[in-house]
Amino acid sequence: MIKPKILILGAGYGGLMTAINLQKRLRSRDAEITLVNKNSYHYETTWLHEASAGNLKPEQVRYEIKDVLHKKIIFKQATVEKIDIHYKSVQTNQGELYYDYLVVALGFEGETFGIDGLDKYTFGITNVNDARKIRDHIHTQFAEWASQELFEKDDALLTIVVGGAGFTGIEFIGELANKVPELCREYDVPREKVRIICVEAAPSILPMFSETLVNYAVDVLTDKGIEFSVGTPVVQATKEGVKIKKGPNQFDFIKAGTVVWAAGVRGPRVVEESDLPSRRARVAVEEDLSVPGYQHIFMVGDCAFLVNRETERPYPPTAQIAVQQANTVARNLVALVKGKETKPFIPDLKGTVCSLGGSDAISNAFGKEITGKTAYIMKKVIDNRALYLIGGLGLVLKKGKLNPFK
Ligand SMILES: Cc1cc2nc3c(=O)[nH]c(=O)nc-3n(C[C@H](O)[C@H](O)[C@H](O)COP(=O)(O)OP(=O)(O)OC[C@H]3O[C@@H](n4cnc5c(N)ncnc54)[C@H](O)[C@@H]3O)c2cc1C
Repeated sequence: MIKPKILILGAGYGGLMTAINLQKRLRSRDAEITLVNKNSYHYETTWLHEASAGNLKPEQVRYEIKDVLHKKIIFKQATVEKIDIHYKSVQTNQGELYYDYLVVALGFEGETFGIDGLDKYTFGITNVNDARKIRDHIHTQFAEWASQELFEKDDALLTIVVGGAGFTGIEFIGELANKVPELCREYDVPREKVRIICVEAAPSILPMFSETLVNYAVDVLTDKGIEFSVGTPVVQATKEGVKIKKGPNQFDFIKAGTVVWAAGVRGPRVVEESDLPSRRARVAVEEDLSVPGYQHIFMVGDCAFLVNRETERPYPPTAQIAVQQANTVARNLVALVKGKETKPFIPDLKGTVCSLGGSDAISNAFGKEITGKTAYIMKKVIDNRALYLIGGLGLVLKKGKLNPFK
């Protein structure tokens, strides 16, 4: 009997979790399962802000994909270049692959909204290499300042602008706030010379949290020396910094040695360039997460678009949703292989925890508002749980955040 070919693109939270689920639910003789990913490793995207600030080593946020897969899953390290839904084929830089069932879990790219200069002059927190570049760049700026003559020092080298006060921007700022004192000691920089400015277009920060939690976050970060500029969209980025709009015909220019753009994500271009029906590279899916008209193609994670019927708002692009969607897609693939009906995606939303650096965080998980150390410990439990779901206790012991004080 010819085995159906299941092809999974991307080994982030969505893709890797789909593969792990399938290896538990299908036997080798049921299907040929191939997982394709650009790198040989999976990285914890939700930890990248820590690596970007230099508080975690890049090695700690990643692990080899082969180490968590059984032999029945074929892993192929390759970059997906084209998805052809008519010929059921996927072109990669390592050759062409064919499928009977396809899972697209290629994650996200930074969204620049067409703002002039963002592509060229800012950093994005999207993968391990970006995180390394940000960390190294900040060190270089501090080192450059330290090497300048006393009366010729360019303090703008020590200014870091973070565009976007959503989840990623705030978590990164929290990490930076904690890192700066260490950098100041290392490079003999007076702390007051360093500016970290969070620029946000919307009138407030962290829209997913209540006013009480937002106020707590702002107080904590302001106490650590973070400046906020809200309701002031970035309109241009240059080599020297960013131009922001402060009112009708009123602009300001912030000179900065480092600008990190964390204000929005879109799906990957390879999805947009395929014949999949996408908007901002995200594909609106059916309730069972299949692509309309293509019951054998599923979208998982940040490149899937689905509206929550209760709130009538789209599910946000989060790891929590990606993992839960992966469980549904794996079950639906097993159903299709066995000639059964697929089932709808029913999420179990547990709320969100946003870290503020150090041992501080805010949380609205499980319907309760929590701040400080308790929320921070909750965040660690979530981070370790993500490892546990993929690689069990062994992976938690190898890569987990096991020190409750750090
Ligand atoms: C700094 C930061 C903090 C975050 N914190 C949280 C949090 O606390 N909680 C939460 O729920 N969410 C958080 N998120 C969001 C969360 O990380 C994403 O929603 C989640 O990673 C989406 O999972 P995914 O599987 O869709 O994509 P990803 O995890 O991004 O995986 C995509 C995979 O596809 C691979 N890939 C991409 N393009 C190609 C290609 N062309 N060929 C081959 N492989 C390719 C990538 O290398 C990657 O392995 C955070 C995001 C960031 C950036």
